[in-house]
Amino acid sequence: MPIYENEPVAVSYISEYDTEKITEILKTQFGNLGITGESFENKRVVIKPNLIMKKSPEYAATSSPEILDALLDILDGYSPASVVIAESSGGPYTKQSLEAAYNVCGIKSVTDKHNATLNFDTTYKVVDFSDGKTVKRFNIISPIADADVVISLPRLKTHSLTGMSGAVKNYFGVIPGLEKFELHARFPDYNDFSSMLVDLATLVATRAETINILDAIVGMEGNGPTGGSPRRIGAILTSRSAFAIDSIAKELICAHGVLSVKEADARGLASADADKISVIGDDYKSLIVRDFKQPDSKKRGLVGFLQTFSGGAIGEYFRPRPVIGKSCIGCGECVRSCPKETISLVSEKNKRIASIKLDNCIRCFCCQELCPIHAIEVKRRGIISFINRAKRDNK
Ligand code: SF4
Ligand code: SF4
Repeated sequence: MPIYENEPVAVSYISEYDTEKITEILKTQFGNLGITGESFENKRVVIKPNLIMKKSPEYAATSSPEILDALLDILDGYSPASVVIAESSGGPYTKQSLEAAYNVCGIKSVTDKHNATLNFDTTYKVVDFSDGKTVKRFNIISPIADADVVISLPRLKTHSLTGMSGAVKNYFGVIPGLEKFELHARFPDYNDFSSMLVDLATLVATRAETINILDAIVGMEGNGPTGGSPRRIGAILTSRSAFAIDSIAKELICAHGVLSVKEADARGLASADADKISVIGDDYKSLIVRDFKQPDSKKRGLVGFLQTFSGGAIGEYFRPRPVIGKSCIGCGECVRSCPKETISLVSEKNKRIASIKLDNCIRCFCCQELCPIHAIEVKRRGIISFINRAKRDNK
């Protein structure tokens, strides 16, 4: 199976979620990329949306139902052996959680109109990957492990940990449920975590034909992948290569320093220089959103500089950290999602709220990602607090 080095990316302008227009765009892009009915004939096709949490589509945190609708419309005209929608969201991988995500994210109502089924099989397969640089064995949800063709439907978002959630990051959802937190705990270093993501996306592309359709019609800016705000960008990007798509996607939202893009470049999978990616269709450069809000964890400035370049205890002091806000309702979701088990519920002023012991925190920001009411902020300590602490320590 090819891993799709140096694959082209099809780019098409579109400013609204109009299923008919999206269908036409996908047909054109498929044609330009050599994807035909034969690509799906008698194949087990699995569509992997991004359903990170049960949120309705207007929040721009999950895959657009209209793009799924358009894709299923096209597949209805071909002869695949089967078409299954499969995803493992951010929390536990259970029939109940899948049902809730399919319903709330608008996926069920669309799927019901077509020759496709929703996955409720919560088993996984152990898959060896001797070519993996960082991980040589993954547990993969069964439909993806057994697929002949995987069509990934990411949405373009910022991401507090990785900087950007695009085509490569979407494959993290093939890891069953809470095992995602184990991978966060195993790879607290951002470089290692990104290398793991590249291994994972490569593994999927080694086992099955892959097609990646990135929804950049409306993305998420700010504290993505769940706590940011929708922001119009105006395009759909399609490629067999998740790495080539991300090289261009990072330019669209000015997400500089995305480590998985650098890692893919270092491995020769796709250049991190978007000018070197072959583009078919519209010119993405006119869509670059120069003031796309980046996550708080990635903001630079003087304290960011100090954190990066001072190292040691000073660097640690300025590291962005999760902070529980006053709106916490004590639901415990962050407690369950923390890979280092460093969050607990405590009583304060007659209510239960979350409390973080930062000593053990690896800054994975899973807690922020999965808090249903976005009560967790990412903050850096300021220069003034640093000076005050230094004064106190010297007394
Ligand atoms: S911070 Fe969010 S996820 Fe954690 S207990 Fe409070 S409301 Fe729930
Ligand atoms: S407290 Fe939040 S950021 Fe820290 S390790 Fe736990 S989930 Fe990750």
